[in-house]
Amino acid sequence: MNRTRSTSANEHDSVKHRVEKRDVDFISVVVPFYNESEQILMTLETTECVLQTLDITYEIVAIDDGSVDSTWRELSKYTMKSPNVRAIRLSRNFGKEAAICAGLSEAIGDAVILMDGDLQHPPRYFPEMIALWREGYEVVEGVKTSRGKESRFARFTANLFYGIFAKLSGIRLKDTSDFKLLDRKVVDYWNTFTERDTFFRALSSWMGFKRITFPFEVDERKVGRSKWGFLKLAKLSLNAVISFSSRPLLLISSLGVIFLVMFFVLAVQTLIRYFGGNAATGFTTVILLQLLIGSIVLISLGLLGLYVASLFREVKGRPRFFITETTDTNFNTEPERDTGSEE
Ligand code: UDP
Ligand code: MG
Repeated sequence: MNRTRSTSANEHDSVKHRVEKRDVDFISVVVPFYNESEQILMTLETTECVLQTLDITYEIVAIDDGSVDSTWRELSKYTMKSPNVRAIRLSRNFGKEAAICAGLSEAIGDAVILMDGDLQHPPRYFPEMIALWREGYEVVEGVKTSRGKESRFARFTANLFYGIFAKLSGIRLKDTSDFKLLDRKVVDYWNTFTERDTFFRALSSWMGFKRITFPFEVDERKVGRSKWGFLKLAKLSLNAVISFSSRPLLLISSLGVIFLVMFFVLAVQTLIRYFGGNAATGFTTVILLQLLIGSIVLISLGLLGLYVASLFREVKGRPRFFITETTDTNFNTEPERDTGSEE
């Protein structure tokens, strides 16, 4: 059968069939890579070493998120010597969120573990995660006990974002990570999402299910450096807030009301002065108010624009990623044609 990216009922039935026939648990590990050529060998070897000690069968689904270095070459080379590793190459850099989505739609295990490609999510925790899953938990989340080596600025901005996000969306993300194990049921539901702007950490928490956390220590990155620049992180944070909360819009209206009240107070004061004959003063107040109101109007307009843009992106409904190449010989990279028979 040609495997496609669809999440159609038929395909899931056949996937389930394939999986259910196994006597031991089948675990998929999804790893996104973006310009990590020096890291790949170490990451995949370490991961396989751990997986081989467990009483399971496994596959590793490596996603090349449009790297411009030799990541793809390294990945294909590795898949030749290890039959349990599949690599999927996206047509350009779509970002880690899209790479995760690609991995989740391709993984066929009874449970799927997501980890970073730089070993900062150490595979030595796999046995514990799988044990918790076998106990019946459907989402097993890694919680950072230490955040690894990180600049003070990075820590400050991360905490600021988590603080604002928790206030606005009611979802607490502090110290959470993308190091997670998801049961097949959760992955199947995840694959039904049609959202473009996904934020894995928050969406998977919003989904519910029987969940448990485990503490883990973030290892240090051995080679390369973090792919998240300040702007990329700022964009992710903004998208996360916008797709999870409409409270900023409420905030704008509240600000409007506050300013209306202030306007009435000032109006009374100005009129009193006017009739008292000393109206020329107050120039400073006018300038300050103009600046303040002007900036708030602009910020509000911008914010509204962001929500409209987000709506626009969602309405267009473009695919989240394109797969250009894969090492899976049964894989069909042709875009799917709508046969109108299902979904
Ligand atoms: N990553 C990705 N696409 C991107 C950026 C990052 O697939 O556009 C991958 C990256 O290769 C790594 C993981 O996401 O495996 C985490 O990235 P990184 O270590 O840069 O993030 P940090 O640990 O600093 O949060
Ligand atoms: Mg990292």
